[in-house]
Amino acid sequence: MYTLGIDIGSTTSKCVIVKNGKEIIASSIIIAGTGTEGPNQAREEVLIKSGLKQEDLSYVVVTGYGRTTYTDADAEISELSCHALGVKHIFPDVRTIIDIGGQDAKVLSINEKGNMVNFLMNDKCAAGTGRFLDVMAGILQLDINDLEIKASEATNPVKISNTCTVFAESEVISQLAAGVELNNLVAGICNSVAGRVASLAKRIGIKEKVCMSGGVARNGGVRNALSKELGVEIFYSPSAQLMGSLGAALAAYNKVK
Ligand code: ADP
Repeated sequence: MYTLGIDIGSTTSKCVIVKNGKEIIASSIIIAGTGTEGPNQAREEVLIKSGLKQEDLSYVVVTGYGRTTYTDADAEISELSCHALGVKHIFPDVRTIIDIGGQDAKVLSINEKGNMVNFLMNDKCAAGTGRFLDVMAGILQLDINDLEIKASEATNPVKISNTCTVFAESEVISQLAAGVELNNLVAGICNSVAGRVASLAKRIGIKEKVCMSGGVARNGGVRNALSKELGVEIFYSPSAQLMGSLGAALAAYNKVK
């Protein structure tokens, strides 16, 4: 039995097809989120990659920020439940999930059964989200993929003192003008996001194991900085950005079963 999970985010659309509630058959990530053609493109791409047709899918669950306006699914489920399900499938022992997406950051506490028991979210401020990194990468004319390697080569990371993204943008431009080395600026930017999210995580209380999900988890600079700030190992899967869509595909399987 094949089930499809669709995660429609603020910046990206993700799809995962799972076979018999276990194995990931195919996935897709399109950099276009809610209100765009992104969800349809992600769905088309995952079907092509899997070699399946629409009729082969037993059930479709949609999740994420744009889930309520998507009409082509059998059910919709909150992204919190889907991230918890997806992460539990990959890391059964995880008790804290730190999910940093394109415009918000969430920290979830989950119990041994994989059920969410508490969560905290920052969706009011771009600092501490992927948006902050996207804006800074734009100023520095870097690809979002390049931030990790640049941060790892820093010798003396700068401290970004402004917490507001707009002011931090001016600060980074001044630092650039003052001749601060690019690697040190990028490390400072990653540290700034990690610092903001660590405060959120400390408020909820960290229980190990801790893992990151969401697109920003792909940035090793933020992962390492967060691990240092919290004093814990951060578990990470290369499928981190797909955790919501994986959880949705697993939820779809559970519905049919
Ligand atoms: P949403 O679900 O809100 O659309 P995602 O969880 O898909 O958000 O995360 C999107 C964010 O992930 C982007 O804002 C970007 O900062 C970050 N990101 C995406 N791809 C990469 C990558 N290859 N390396 C580092 N960061 C990435």
